[in-house]
Amino acid sequence: MYKNKYILFFLAFLLLCSPFPIRPDSVQAEGPTIEITTDTLNIREGSGLSYKVISVAKKGDRFSVVEEKGDWIQVSLNSSGKKGWVAAWLVKKHSANEATSSTKNGIVTANQLRVRSGPSTSYGVVTSLSQGATVTILKTESNWHQIKSSNITGWVSAEFIQDIKSDTGGSSSGQQDGTITANNLNVRSTASTSGQILGKLQKGSTVSILSVEGNWVKIQYGGQTAWISKEFVEIKSTSSKPSVPNNTNTESTSGLIGTITATTLNVRSTGSLNGKIVGTVSKGQAFEILAEENNWAKIKLKNGQQGWVASWYLSKEESTTSTKVDVQENSSVTILYNGTNIRKSATTNSSVISRANAGATFTVLSVQNDWYEIQLSNGSKGFVAGWIVSVSGTSQQIERPGAEQYLKNKVIVIDPGHGGRDTGATGIKGSYEKTLTLKTAQLLYDKLKAAGANVIMTRNTDSYLSLSSRVGMSHTHAADAFISIHFDSILDSSVRGMTSYYYHKYQQTLATTVGKEIASFTKLKDRGVRYGDYHVLRENKRASVLLELGYLSNSAEETLVNSGSYQANAATGIYQGLAKYFKK
Ligand SMILES: [Zn+2]
Repeated sequence: MYKNKYILFFLAFLLLCSPFPIRPDSVQAEGPTIEITTDTLNIREGSGLSYKVISVAKKGDRFSVVEEKGDWIQVSLNSSGKKGWVAAWLVKKHSANEATSSTKNGIVTANQLRVRSGPSTSYGVVTSLSQGATVTILKTESNWHQIKSSNITGWVSAEFIQDIKSDTGGSSSGQQDGTITANNLNVRSTASTSGQILGKLQKGSTVSILSVEGNWVKIQYGGQTAWISKEFVEIKSTSSKPSVPNNTNTESTSGLIGTITATTLNVRSTGSLNGKIVGTVSKGQAFEILAEENNWAKIKLKNGQQGWVASWYLSKEESTTSTKVDVQENSSVTILYNGTNIRKSATTNSSVISRANAGATFTVLSVQNDWYEIQLSNGSKGFVAGWIVSVSGTSQQIERPGAEQYLKNKVIVIDPGHGGRDTGATGIKGSYEKTLTLKTAQLLYDKLKAAGANVIMTRNTDSYLSLSSRVGMSHTHAADAFISIHFDSILDSSVRGMTSYYYHKYQQTLATTVGKEIASFTKLKDRGVRYGDYHVLRENKRASVLLELGYLSNSAEETLVNSGSYQANAATGIYQGLAKYFKK
């Protein structure tokens, strides 16, 4: 669709000369796009706040719209078809023919940063960039940026790119004010203590904040831009908060920990924007969620006081994963890349407190999710992403991303147990096994499909299907793996946990690998891998597993398995287990 042959000729010329593949598919989308207007925004697996956060977008990021459903928009996260949902009330929509005006730039913080052909370390290295090089960030996928620098387009680890927010962003600038909390605060020309001192600010004075980067705040100062240390600024948002949508969220509310994703967030006396402000919390801080109502979360502050915050600025996790810290002994990590960020908490959203170079080693204090808590030389503690360091000692090496490479083109038959007139077990609070199995199966289906697997569901609706038909589908499609999903029930209401079953010897490895990952992701009591005489296993000539994902006869477990977060964790566990199984 090029308008004239000279452009075509020029492109052909570029293709011939460039040592790197040019990917013209990246910047401009064909259809409507959305732009992120909050500092950070959670991208979720489904169209609701109860779905798991699969990625976090930053202000200015743009995505193509796939579909819209109520207050939610499904967007395309990358060219491989991965999708996610964003809250429509927190983004700005752009029509198809509108020009893309906002671009995001970054600076390379590592020396010889590898540029790869795709968003994981499993892709080939196409070139490398030197420290200080500037790049244009085209898009972001998990922890990888697709970047452009002169004639190079490729993927780099987002850990080594420091964002430069565009000054010409217009409306995105000057939305926040800050109050200086220290006397004689140095105002510098660059975001570093070696930056030239342009002047000093006194306690109580107010500044216009342009952006926050790491431990530095970019401000408007005497007609120019300048930098001050974030430590001595109290940031207040002057922009109006988005209106609260009227959809009630019924996610299980106990046992969750919420981490603040907004720079600063008001804590209110009631769950409404009219509530009196009783305090403020900052990005990266984590709180126990006591209750949730209409997209507001009641949290417990450090001083014991309670208050409400807008829950769309919370990244939620089961408290067992956040608070259960695996204390490590005699383990250390070795930094693999120069300029590796050491962060304040176990998330890429938290501020960088230090940087380390290749070869540096640190004692591991604990493992939190995919992050190592390490002891720094100045006596303080910090966090480093587990997948960019090597570990020695008893700690487990954290590996990610890249599960998709083992799942691509694999034939996986997912079998949601029961259906139709066969309800399966009924929980003591009334949940039907057949409904829960379909929910888990559909979440798993989306994940596997996104990874490029060939996925078949034995049923996709609430319909009855015989056991022999289910096995028949495993044989017809020559399944590489057959996954039958169930929930348990037993007379003794104190029994809890998950079990992974096999019948034939050739099914045992699949049952072991998948079972172990589910237990690790869901933190459910692991009842282990067992031999079970089930029709879908016994008659199945393919590698098969029957999963019992918790007891509906146990009140607490029934509530848990109904929650969006449990469902997402169970699906992730099966997904990761399958990846490990195929990797072997
Ligand atoms: Zn069942």
